[in-house]
Formats: sequence, structure tokens, C-alpha cells
Amino acid sequence: MASFEVVSFTCRTCAELNIIAENFQHKMVSCRRCTTRQLPKGSVAFEAIEWDSSTRAQSLIDIVSLFGIERRHRLLRLAHCATLAQLIHPDSPVIFERALTTGELWADLDRPPDGVRELRMWLEARHSDHTLHLLALACVTAVATKGWQFPKEISEALADAYRDVIPNPFVPFEWNPEWFTSTVRGLAAHMYESRDFSAMPVLGDALQDAGCDHDLILGHCRGTKPHARGCWVVDAILGKE
Ligand SMILES: [Zn+2]
Ligand SMILES: [Zn+2]
Repeated sequence: MASFEVVSFTCRTCAELNIIAENFQHKMVSCRRCTTRQLPKGSVAFEAIEWDSSTRAQSLIDIVSLFGIERRHRLLRLAHCATLAQLIHPDSPVIFERALTTGELWADLDRPPDGVRELRMWLEARHSDHTLHLLALACVTAVATKGWQFPKEISEALADAYRDVIPNPFVPFEWNPEWFTSTVRGLAAHMYESRDFSAMPVLGDALQDAGCDHDLILGHCRGTKPHARGCWVVDAILGKE
């Protein structure tokens, strides 16, 4: 899928890690955080392995936009929903639960559901710098993470959520419709509806039985990372846009 190389460099003013297309390596670019114009000195290649291991959610977002991956708003909103779902506790304000279900509904409907405006205004008016509020806001907006600084542990959780909704863009692969047997489709539909993704390894076995031998797909099913609505494997099987 990668038709060009991606590199990262550290801003000389604010030390932010910036991600740029390789062909900008010798041109003046602006830091994404402090906007200082500079030559991206000491840039290093960002590759498949970094996509798999990075704990910086922002780097993954930057790559998604560099690759121009379609439907990113739906997917990124779902990734925020998945992260928020991990963080809300029974004693959290009910507003977070509403943001979560509204964000998921929006993704399914592909249009803002009723009440989005009110929810967004409420969240923007209150503690907009608080992490949970930022995440909840992301669930009910067209997703604008730029400039939002999430604490390290949230950034890590988000990076995992992004990796669940977007396959490694540096690794080429193609789906074969013959793999989508009734067993495979049944498992995927059940997990999507129930939001219980514990059968992902079983789905991996079913895909393999159907002839799928791609490490990216099987590895995703059998990995130890959490899955949620928007999971790129489940979405592909269900033909979700
Ligand atoms: Zn900077
Ligand atoms: Zn997944």
C-alpha cells in the first residue's frame, strides 16, 4: 500500500516528533505543534515495525492522514470510543456513556445522530482540558485530535485503538472474498453486535480454514491487543464502509 516513504524528525524548538513524507526531507517544513519552520534534520524512516510498536497515538494519526486513508473520521471516532470505553467506570458521569453510544451510533449511521450538538456543547463547556472530556468530545465530533495532548498512558491506549481500526499501512495485503465463509461472517457479526471480541482467535482459525494465510490478518486475530467496533478485520468481513 505504501507508495512513498515516511520519515520522522524531532523539532529543534519544542522537541515534538513530526511525521512527514520522505520527499519533504530536504524542504522547509513547519512543526505540527509549535509551527516553527525548519529543515527536518536527522530524519529517520518510519516503517511497518514502528507502526506496530509506537506508543504515540499522534504519530499514527499523522500517518493515517499522510496516506489519505478514507473513512478515517468514522474509524478514528470509533477508536476514541474504544479508548473511552476502557476508561469509564461505573461511578463516572453518565455523559461519558452517552458520548460513547452516540459516537458508535454516528459511525454506524454515517450521519450525526440526534442530540450530538447538545452533547458537544455540554462537553466543550466543561473541563475541556480533562482527558476523559477530550476523548468524549472526540467521540461526538468529526474528530479533531490535532493539538490535543493526551497523557502518556492514554496515548498508548489510543495507539492500540488506532491499530485496531487501521491495518498497518506499510504492509500490502488483499482480501479474498472466498475467505468470508458463513462461519467467518457469523463470528464477525456476533462480535460486532455483542461488542464481545473474545472470539477473535476463533475467527483467525476460521479464516485460516477458509484459506487465508496472511500474517497481518491472522496475527491481528490472534494477537493480545484489545478489539472494538471498527476492528479492521471484523469491518472488512462485514463489508462496513
Ligand atoms: Zn516544534
Ligand atoms: Zn481488531
